[in-house]
Amino acid sequence: MKRKRLPVPQYLAGIASSSAVVLSQAITIIESNKPEDQVLASEIMQQLSTIKKENTALRIGITGVPGVGKSTFIDTFGSFLTHQGLKIAILSIDPSSQKTKGSILGDKTRMENLARDKNAYIRPSPSGTTLGGVAHKTHETILLCEAAGFDCVIVETVGVGQSETMVKDMVDFFLLLMLPGGGDELQGVKRGIMEMADAIAINKSDGDQIKTARKAKVNYQNAMHLFPPNLNGWVPPVLLCSAIEKTGITEIWESIKKFEGKMIQNKFLESNRQSQNEIWFEQLLQYKLMEKLYKAPELHTKITETKKSFFQDKINVPTAVNKILKEWQHFDIKKGS
Ligand code: GDP
Repeated sequence: MKRKRLPVPQYLAGIASSSAVVLSQAITIIESNKPEDQVLASEIMQQLSTIKKENTALRIGITGVPGVGKSTFIDTFGSFLTHQGLKIAILSIDPSSQKTKGSILGDKTRMENLARDKNAYIRPSPSGTTLGGVAHKTHETILLCEAAGFDCVIVETVGVGQSETMVKDMVDFFLLLMLPGGGDELQGVKRGIMEMADAIAINKSDGDQIKTARKAKVNYQNAMHLFPPNLNGWVPPVLLCSAIEKTGITEIWESIKKFEGKMIQNKFLESNRQSQNEIWFEQLLQYKLMEKLYKAPELHTKITETKKSFFQDKINVPTAVNKILKEWQHFDIKKGS
């Protein structure tokens, strides 16, 4: 079924007046891979800066392994924020949904209170594209949400080691949720993610887990001291919370506000966003160029043929790539556009 599309000014007017319905429609267009939608999406993005905003949204990334309590935490934390009069948007990046079409993060029913909260907007992970594609689409969605006047945009991702760096590169503050009792084995991926965190919150610090959580806090604090100091002068705190008992939530928000104040003062927020934009620019350009290249029919055929020749002609990878590079200027790249 062909969905009806609106003229560009109507999307912009809807976003400017914070209409959740129009915002959702605009995000659907951004996420669509249909060529006609991509043209519409680029026009919306181009004119987005004409929307006057009163303030910029604070972008918060939240990650943690499946089962740590991300959805429960975001439901509690988000409700805490909306009770303070803030409007929040929650976007998710879920690497699993690209492979299996199933999703670790699931849908909005995971956040029962926020799903009913008129000051909260929840958008699940876009599907049917590569992880790189999802990152660009999420980045664009952040800009749409900001134009729609949200005070806070929360980007949630599963802490399984693929999408965290991407999220870190699009948010101001990166919160890592951990489980009590995980303080003893700090290696591999977890260590890498810890190094990116602006704060660690040990969730499920309730019931008979409190003692273990306090011990884990000391372990994590010690581990954090071993990392090189942050250039922005921030020392990431390790905090305790319970998403179910709603404890420690105020402290986490206070910590985020303290970070924001400090980063505005030392101009790091601004310079960080600038360098994030530079990274995004490079990545999006590469992504779009590659997309165009792969769509050029002759080149596509050549790539497929060359891949087959690894085994048949026993050529190695650099030789195969150089073979394509030698010939690529003869292909009509424009056909792919
Ligand atoms: P996610 O996979 O990270 O999104 O985790 P969920 O939010 O779905 O939570 C996984 C399980 O942990 C659920 O059974 C929750 O009820 C439970 N849970 C979440 N937060 C807490 C908490 O603060 N304390 C306790 N005891 N359980 C929690």
